[in-house]
Amino acid sequence: MISFDYISAADVESALRAASTPSSKFIAGGTTLIDLMKLDVERPTTVVDVTTLARRDASLAAVSELPGGGLRLGALAHMSDVAWDPRVRDRYPLVSQSLLLAASGQLRNMATMGGNILQRTRCSYFRDTATPCNKRDPGSGCSAIGGFNRTHAILGTSEHCIATHPSDLAVALAALDTTVQVRGTAPRSIPFADFHLLPGAHPEVETTLRPGELITSIDLPAVSFAKRSLYLKVRDRASYAFALAAAAVAVDLQGGAIRGARVALGGVGTKPWRSHEAEAVLVGKRATEATFRAAANAALAGARPHKDNAFKVELAKRTLVRALTEVSA
Ligand SMILES: Cc1cc2nc3c(=O)[nH]c(=O)nc-3n(C[C@H](O)[C@H](O)[C@H](O)COP(=O)(O)OP(=O)(O)OC[C@H]3O[C@@H](n4cnc5c(N)ncnc54)[C@H](O)[C@@H]3O)c2cc1C
Ligand code: SF4
Repeated sequence: MISFDYISAADVESALRAASTPSSKFIAGGTTLIDLMKLDVERPTTVVDVTTLARRDASLAAVSELPGGGLRLGALAHMSDVAWDPRVRDRYPLVSQSLLLAASGQLRNMATMGGNILQRTRCSYFRDTATPCNKRDPGSGCSAIGGFNRTHAILGTSEHCIATHPSDLAVALAALDTTVQVRGTAPRSIPFADFHLLPGAHPEVETTLRPGELITSIDLPAVSFAKRSLYLKVRDRASYAFALAAAAVAVDLQGGAIRGARVALGGVGTKPWRSHEAEAVLVGKRATEATFRAAANAALAGARPHKDNAFKVELAKRTLVRALTEVSA
């Protein structure tokens, strides 16, 4: 770990000023940034602590109502507080479930909404500075493509990177057409679909967040049928493990027919993977296993497995079929 300056920000403006220096980083719960600094993967020279901002502006760490029936999740709200908020549990069960199925109780008590969607891949080569990795060291190569790639992505990959996006929460947010509110030189809103980037030729650029921009909240829009939603996560261990495959689904069901659907996949994409293809198959059909299987085939039609992860194609299909079956019951 290199030496760095630590700044505790008193308000948003001073946080933005402090983070405007090159190679500075915000720190919230620190549950992933500190790990990566210890591994020498992240090397910020200034670390700006934003946990103190909520003393000035409590909404940054709170869940609050939005006009029109949505909910605003403060970027500094802890994963556990959002997961157990009665409004989130009642109106957006998939968000609550995605949080409770992530990490451990202790981590969820420290980790924040903003930090969660900005966490970096768990690709073991990315975390090992002795191996080539285009994401960590652009142009050095991708050790995973010819290496051990059992946990890697099958959707959205490029010849430069096949790393999976690790966040559970982000998959639920992708299904809901969420918006990320940020503050920089000017406030702006980023539709969640545009927030994370595919690796393409530049896997080191992971989001459309500009250097020094602070996430202030994640806004959940009112989705009339989000009450009928589910996040299903399949992993090697029943707890404390990242997804091998996951599905975030919501359905608008009227008399056995599907009038609206939201589908996103986790554990298989280089970014949280919204599947408009699966949604198009579902809408207007009867909620049957055959319909769900057709939707799953559509969602995985573009899958490109590598040596060790072909099993994920069928696993993701079965995960989606099970999630749709459970949510439609
Ligand atoms: C052992 C372990 C298991 C885990 N398992 C899972 C799992 O199963 N599923 C899952 O989804 N996650 C899992 N995680 C990841 C965990 O959820 C993240 O570490 C956590 O959500 C990050 O939040 P944080 O507040 O601690 O972020 P930090 O570590 O403080 O920051 C992470 C990144 O976000 C930036 N950042 C933070 N807040 C802001 C902001 N408001 N604006 C702009 N930039 C910001 C920081 O600069 C940094 O780059 C696991 C982590 C560990 C250590
Ligand atoms: S998959 Fe991506 S993160 Fe992993 S080694 Fe290749 S370039 Fe690096």
